[in-house]
Amino acid sequence: MKTGNSNILIIYTGGTIGMVKDYASGALKAFDFKGLLESIPELHQLECQIDATSFEVPLDSSNMHPEDWVRLATMIEQGYDHYDGFVVLHGSDTMSYTASALSFLLENLQKPVIITGSQLPIGDLRTDAKENLITAVQIAALKNENGPVVREVGLYFEYKLYRGNRTTKINAEHFEAFASLNHPHLVESGVHLKVFSQFLWAPKKRKPLVVHKKLNTNVAVLKLFPGIGEQVLRGVLSSKGLKALVLETYGSGNAPSDSWFVEVLREAISNGIHIVNVTQCSGGSVMMGQYETSTQLQQLQLISGKDITTEAAVAKLMYMLGAEVHPRHFKTVFETSLRGEMHQN
Ligand code: ASP
Repeated sequence: MKTGNSNILIIYTGGTIGMVKDYASGALKAFDFKGLLESIPELHQLECQIDATSFEVPLDSSNMHPEDWVRLATMIEQGYDHYDGFVVLHGSDTMSYTASALSFLLENLQKPVIITGSQLPIGDLRTDAKENLITAVQIAALKNENGPVVREVGLYFEYKLYRGNRTTKINAEHFEAFASLNHPHLVESGVHLKVFSQFLWAPKKRKPLVVHKKLNTNVAVLKLFPGIGEQVLRGVLSSKGLKALVLETYGSGNAPSDSWFVEVLREAISNGIHIVNVTQCSGGSVMMGQYETSTQLQQLQLISGKDITTEAAVAKLMYMLGAEVHPRHFKTVFETSLRGEMHQN
């Protein structure tokens, strides 16, 4: 496995990683990415060609919207034939949503798209940004005799590469800010880069890249809590234009058995709203029917989110609604792993 001769495009979208301290004023300001190679001379040692581009106005990731995911996917599409791999620099707050969305937007991806960021700005003395950026580039440049080693959207943070659509931000302070509890990490960075090939996504056929650009944002997320009232559930499900709901349930997909609860869900489903059962636990899977408190949901034919994260469920719903998947097939398609975002069975 080597990194030589790869052409890598770095796309800066915003976030803490791209900030430097202005020593005169002490304030954090956006880094000039045109000067990237000069400012991080370590990148010269990587034996690959690096170009950098940036969103015109860098965004804090709380301001990233689905149209920005499409913009990003389009930038990757435009550079797809020229570059061997892509590194996306992004704020960590909504990074898992963007990584999930990109995985659905970029169908038949055969090249690495590695998204990373940092907890401290690149100009900070104790920054985690340099290691994250340099290793992300190295992973994006990795090739073997068959071409790119990684052929999926990965998220690199604090010595680990994860499948992007399996991640969740779990810590607002620690350098180890992300976890992927339902899928093992793909690469580990120590003295050497250790690639766990058995966990990598293997796109089946050599089909051309298809970049989807339609997302339908008429979705909502509702987390159950003891004491949730009928008005709250009804209020969310009767939101104007709502097409789908991610219902965050307890444990292995359990919910109250109260008749009003079941009735409100039944009405929504008969009004054509897709309801996905996703567990509010960080790890593990929904298994409707395992407990009595989920048999009512099974009878309602709720969609099983299996072990998908809420972030990936939101992105998958927006993608499937955008693609106008027929209501008759919606449950089957959602319950199928499209990009390794959930277990198969
Ligand atoms: N608020 C920042 C963002 O998500 C935090 C970060 O970059 O880590 O854009």
